[in-house]
Amino acid sequence: MWEHLFPPPTTCWFCSSPAGGHPWSGVWGRLCAVCRRRLVRISPPLCRRCGKPLAGQGTVLCGDCKGRVGHLDQNRSVVRYNEFAREIVALFKYRGRERLARPLGRMMAESAAGHDPLPDWITFVPLHPSRLKERGFNQAELLARIVSARLNRPLIPLLKRVRPTEPQSLRNRRERLVALRGAFALAEDREVRTKIAGTRVLIVDDVYTTGSTLEECARILKEGEVKRVVSVTFAR
Ligand SMILES: [Zn+2]
Ligand SMILES: [Zn+2]
Repeated sequence: MWEHLFPPPTTCWFCSSPAGGHPWSGVWGRLCAVCRRRLVRISPPLCRRCGKPLAGQGTVLCGDCKGRVGHLDQNRSVVRYNEFAREIVALFKYRGRERLARPLGRMMAESAAGHDPLPDWITFVPLHPSRLKERGFNQAELLARIVSARLNRPLIPLLKRVRPTEPQSLRNRRERLVALRGAFALAEDREVRTKIAGTRVLIVDDVYTTGSTLEECARILKEGEVKRVVSVTFAR
């Protein structure tokens, strides 16, 4: 009975030390105080389009989005891509900690719930088959499964990667966009194409860097007559 009233501390999702919060206090409560402090949550005011934190209360669009015409209607991200967020993403993506999909996906679902109205479909940024074979899983797809379950919206693979792209770390947004042209295509399934016409789609990815990958995916979806394309990432 006492165990029920005062449950033993749970372990942190990220580092396995005792978590500070109650087990029922949500996903953030399942992190230890140290990990919680090392993650910098992105909170309003945000750029209405890309979700970048804004300095001034009155502004609606950040400097990057002002005057820019794009296909991605809105992005939301959970935390800043600092050293710690980078470590977490690397653990998840490259070092086989697939179970991290659960806490990360749950945090992302909380952020994605801010998209108003909620999307009709959840999809994810695809990996090229050769990359998928090498890694064994697509991190964006694992996250999308959790987001889909939490938001109670169906998950459908709408995009495929038809051309592998080189690592993009040194390019700027414009160069990245050019390099990404022709990298993605819409799923060929005609039934799927009919379904998505005129609807709202949420794309899931792990990190938002310049936004060019998501922008290119959004462009393809809009070509497929999707009405509104939004996205959610863990970090940016
Ligand atoms: Zn921890
Ligand atoms: Zn912006």
